Amino acid sequence: MVHHDAISYAGYLIDHHWPREPYISLEKLSVEQYENCFRKAGIDHAVVYCKDHWGTCYYPTQLGMSHPAISFDLVGEVGEMLHRIGAEFTAYYSVGFDEHAARNNPQWVARDPQGQMLRHPKLAPRPRWHRLCLETDYMEFMHEHLAEIFQRYDADSVFLDILGHPHGTYWGAYLCYCDNCQRVFSKRYGYEIPHDPQKMRQHAFDIEDYKAHLDLKWFNSIRTAIKAARPQIPICVNSSAHFRQPLRDLIDHHFTEPFWGHWTSAIYCRGVGRGKFPQGGAQVNSEIYDPSPRDMYQVFAAKHWANGIRPLLYSPSQRPDGRLVTEEFNRLSAGYGELNNLRKLMTDRSTIKCVGVLYHEKTCVDLPDFPYGEDHTRSVKIIEFDQGKPDTFHRSMVAAGINLAAYAQVPVDVITEQDLDIHCLSNYQLLLIGGASRLDEKQASQIIRFVESGGSIILSGDTSLRHGDGTFRSDFLLADAMGVHFDGLDDRFMTNPSGSYLARQPHPVWNQLPETDLPLPPPRYNIKLAGAKVLGTHIDPCAVHEDEQWTSWWSPAPASLALSQDDPKPPLVTHHKYGNGHVVYFAANPFTDAMRWLGHGISNLIDWLLDPPAIRIRTDTPGSLGSTFWRRNHDGQVVIHLVNLGIEKLDGEVLAIPGITIEVSHQFGKICRASIAYPNTMELKVTDNPTMQLIAVPAVEIHTILTLDLWD
Ligand SMILES: [Zn+2]
Repeated sequence: MVHHDAISYAGYLIDHHWPREPYISLEKLSVEQYENCFRKAGIDHAVVYCKDHWGTCYYPTQLGMSHPAISFDLVGEVGEMLHRIGAEFTAYYSVGFDEHAARNNPQWVARDPQGQMLRHPKLAPRPRWHRLCLETDYMEFMHEHLAEIFQRYDADSVFLDILGHPHGTYWGAYLCYCDNCQRVFSKRYGYEIPHDPQKMRQHAFDIEDYKAHLDLKWFNSIRTAIKAARPQIPICVNSSAHFRQPLRDLIDHHFTEPFWGHWTSAIYCRGVGRGKFPQGGAQVNSEIYDPSPRDMYQVFAAKHWANGIRPLLYSPSQRPDGRLVTEEFNRLSAGYGELNNLRKLMTDRSTIKCVGVLYHEKTCVDLPDFPYGEDHTRSVKIIEFDQGKPDTFHRSMVAAGINLAAYAQVPVDVITEQDLDIHCLSNYQLLLIGGASRLDEKQASQIIRFVESGGSIILSGDTSLRHGDGTFRSDFLLADAMGVHFDGLDDRFMTNPSGSYLARQPHPVWNQLPETDLPLPPPRYNIKLAGAKVLGTHIDPCAVHEDEQWTSWWSPAPASLALSQDDPKPPLVTHHKYGNGHVVYFAANPFTDAMRWLGHGISNLIDWLLDPPAIRIRTDTPGSLGSTFWRRNHDGQVVIHLVNLGIEKLDGEVLAIPGITIEVSHQFGKICRASIAYPNTMELKVTDNPTMQLIAVPAVEIHTILTLDLWD
């Protein structure tokens, strides 16, 4: 049964993986100290290691290896303690790493193409766990183990770690070449698992399908074993937002590490893990022995709560003798201690729909050879990003799209393929679609209907330009709505950081941008106009920038060669009025964090297309203010979170953000009362102008929550 009576919003994981070594004495481990620390910090959810990466169990197991330094049932006692303090008890089980099982059963270990045992990549200082293959009898072992755990403990939920191939994660990038896996692959695809990088790229789509197939099969197998013992228990899988939709649908609770930083990741997980109690988090930016300032813990919690995400802090807070480092719990109380003041504002609410950033899962294809190789072909390009994890080009554009909409200070959601339905899309005013190359006909038709009925889109690159297998179509599926036709890929400047420069036509969207030729990264697309107007054209770089030719230290500057009238400059940004809506197309990639002008540039564009947005924030420091916008389901009250993201940039120093104004369109609703609900309470004045209602907000220190009541 579930013992806690509310959704938990303050999660914690004591992130020890203890080897069976004499220096791990655990002699001072005390569940009473756990309880004191958890109570002090306001923790209402703990993930408890039943079996860790070493294969160490923290209860008297009949099957695996209990930690020799613990003579009592730690899992049982901690579970009871959590229920006593009204906290959620999540049982953690390490799937893909079990060092004890690997060393004692080498036949269970995943293999590289040469038959060597596969270990976690050499990314110093990461530990080099062996990787288990789930196509072996290890699966049977886990079944028995999980049955044992869930017959013993009435955990509220289960957390499975290192399972399968979550997309874009370093531990999802591997492939196993053992005999069993070879058989599964050959039977499904009719050839051996490729390992030569060239062949892997050639078969990237099969490999992607294979990984998704294994993940679903493995998860179903483990899920069946768990649910046989505990039919109702919710199952959470680490990095669940990175799995394919069919698997995501089977997962009960979502958790994903903050691969793009907390704020962007929280927005992403809120969309992809919607309705499944999404949880995000990780360490605050420090180690336990060199802790972050208290305010960082508060902003850590605020960044998640503002997005309706449950934060989970995982931390190496246990010493080898078992004592917890209490300092972290003191600091964490600055964040989690605020929960009771906020909880009533965080439940029973839905985001205000305005801008949707499309995450098109089918467009994403990982190569499995990370970190040993990197591909430069467009459809399967892997880029390295935060923490050295690989990701696909499209997903990097999703992250940039989130950041650009957030910078524009308008409500933003991430939407998925499943939302590409006119009934869902019609809730939005604007879609951002960054290089969703493999949209299919049905999805494209729904987007076209959205535009016809008055929606706007900003899209880029090869959106709707590729078949399911990655090859080019003859034209964009969205060509009619875009008012342009595809006329070939321009790959001359693929290696130039600035693959093109923008020559602007006179238009309000370019107001107040720097008076210079603004750069955009490659790739570039040639287009023929078919009704669209040109907002800007390409200026070529003066040279190609690569190994055997270059100009200087810098990305080659814009060429100054004048083109004749007969040789017009190729369009880079176009605008097309279609039906009742608008389509703005970039024949390059504006969905990047690499060019700082795009923050203002895309903000201008969003302003112009929304005209006006339902609701937005005005601030002189949009990059330092996180804003989210909600409506309560039962009474329609608007709840706005404002979070000072500058604190993280300043490593914990708080500079309050002054001069914030909220703008609410008359169309959205007539405000009868505006107030601050947190951190203090205060009535705010509402003033009117012909298009908007304006509310000036006092400076935001760390986290401010406002409520707006509207007349019916
Ligand atoms: Zn295998």
